[in-house]
Amino acid sequence: MRRGLYLGRFQPYHLGHHQVLKKIVREVDEIIICIGSAQKSHEIENPFTAGERVLMVSRALEECDIKCYVIPIEDIQRNSLWVSHLKSMVPPFEIAYTNNPLVIELLREAGIEVKQSPLFKRNSYSGTEIRRMMLKGEKWEQFVPEKVVEIIRGIDGVNRLKTISQSDQE
Ligand code: NAP
Repeated sequence: MRRGLYLGRFQPYHLGHHQVLKKIVREVDEIIICIGSAQKSHEIENPFTAGERVLMVSRALEECDIKCYVIPIEDIQRNSLWVSHLKSMVPPFEIAYTNNPLVIELLREAGIEVKQSPLFKRNSYSGTEIRRMMLKGEKWEQFVPEKVVEIIRGIDGVNRLKTISQSDQE
């Protein structure tokens, strides 16, 4: 039994994350997906709540035949304690997948095996770029899984982002 952990903010969960995930699924028996910065929402960089992101990831994962746990993790003020905080919130895991240098360093210092998982097609499969397209009224739907499009439409997410960006400029 090998359990792998994949961490991201997923603002929103897009096809780049999904490609990485499909690759991980082939390497482990169970997967833990951590929704980072869970306390953040209703910000231009973090428009979606932890609950909405849990839904995005869980629905997108329905097509993968694997046992998965989707768990929100709030940030804490001390990086040196973050791995203990993370471990206290998730089932035991043998390997972590990330490309974030800080996260790699913290996990490796704690003796956890880390595998890097670079995103594909970074120009379009990027949370920043997708949020920009939403704000500009451009087509963003082709860059996220179908199920995620439905969730974002259901919560009127694009209008939320537009409203937040107005209040930020005042
Ligand atoms: P992130 O802040 O969500 O992403 C940082 C950048 O890396 C984004 O541009 C993101 O793109 C990109 N990225 C995400 N996955 C990638 C991949 N597989 N390959 C290449 N680029 C990738 O950071 P994260 O690493 O995904 O998530 C780390 C989470 O852990 C964050 O929520 C962070 O706050 C948390 N953390 C907290 C502490 C603490 O509380 N002290 C310490 C360490 C980490 P997209 O926008 O397209 O995803």
